[in-house]
Order: sequence, then C-alpha cells, then structure tokens
Amino acid sequence: MNKLAIYPGTFDPFTNGHLDIVLRSVRLFDRFIIAITTNAKKTPLFSVPERKELIEKSLPAGNNITVESFDGLLVDYAEKKGCIILIRGLRAVSDFEYELQMALLNRRLKPAIETIFKMPSEEYSFLTSSAVKEIAQLGGCVDGLVPPAVKSALIEKFKINQQSILAKI
Ligand code: ADP
Repeated sequence: MNKLAIYPGTFDPFTNGHLDIVLRSVRLFDRFIIAITTNAKKTPLFSVPERKELIEKSLPAGNNITVESFDGLLVDYAEKKGCIILIRGLRAVSDFEYELQMALLNRRLKPAIETIFKMPSEEYSFLTSSAVKEIAQLGGCVDGLVPPAVKSALIEKFKINQQSILAKI
C-alpha cells in the first residue's frame, strides 16, 4: 500500500516544532505532504510562496516530502489527494480542546479520514509561530527555535518593516 499523509497548518513561519513533527511522522509513510492553508484567520507575516520556500529550505535533503498549499476545506483537499491520514501536532493540554474539535468536525465531514496526533520533543512544547514572530520583531534571538532559513527571513522581514515605518515618519 502506498501510504500518504498530509500535515496541514498555517506555518507562518515554519518552526523547529513543526520540523520535529515532520521528522517524527515522515518515516511512517511513503509520501508526505505539508499543506499550507491559504485561508488564515489573521493576516500572515509571510505570503504562501514565501512560507512554501522556507519550508522547502528547512527540510532534509532527499526526502519524500512535498510542500503544497490549499484553500477550502481540508477534508476536501485530502480527498482530492486520495489521502485518509491527517497529521497534527499536540504541544500541551492547551492545544487539546481545539485539536479535538477540529478532528471531530473533520471526521463528521468525512468519516473515512483519520487524524493522527504527534507529540513534539519537550524542548519545542512551548514553541509557537506567534511567539517566534514576536521575539524576532522585538530583536530577540530565535536560534534553536526556527531553521536557519526562517531565521534569516525573519530578520529580513522585520528590517524591511522597520524601514517602511521609518520611511513614513
Ligand atoms: P494552525 O493554524 O493550523 O494551527 P500552525 O502552523 O500553528 O497552524 O500549526 C500546525 C500544526 O502544527 C498544529 O497541529 C499545531 O498544533 C502543530 N504545532 C505548531 N507548533 C508546534 C510545536 N512547537 N510542536 C508541535 N506541534 C506544533
């Protein structure tokens, strides 16, 4: 059987916590898709093509992973791909309620699709994309929290933002 899994998320930006979940999951499947949601509730810092490029740069060489984006319902996208396994990360108890709700709603919409939860290494259990953005914006060090390509992109993004703020003064 050709086993395929989809790991959906906003990935704004991709962190070492996301990477930890990918590396723990990927060896269990023949094919693995990291799927970026385009219908984010909040305005993202990075565009979808930027997020895609940063994820691709952060993955180990010679992998069986593809990075895509999708809009609309996740379960419709999964069905189109012929995929019945969704991967989600569970950091702490605080993630549980939201993730349970999403998993049960998705099951309600498409009963054939299963959600599998993976726990990251505890060093990443506090890590969120929002925290990383806040630290970087305030000039803090994000070493060890994000892959090197993401670190450079954050520095670049906030430099540009600061320049555009200065230009308006
Ligand atoms: P979403 O907006 O779909 O929650 P995120 O990019 O925030 O998108 O997260 C995608 C998935 O990765 C979610 O299941 C989330 O719980 C998981 N995740 C995010 N950060 C971490 C982390 N540090 N460790 C493990 N899982 C994580």
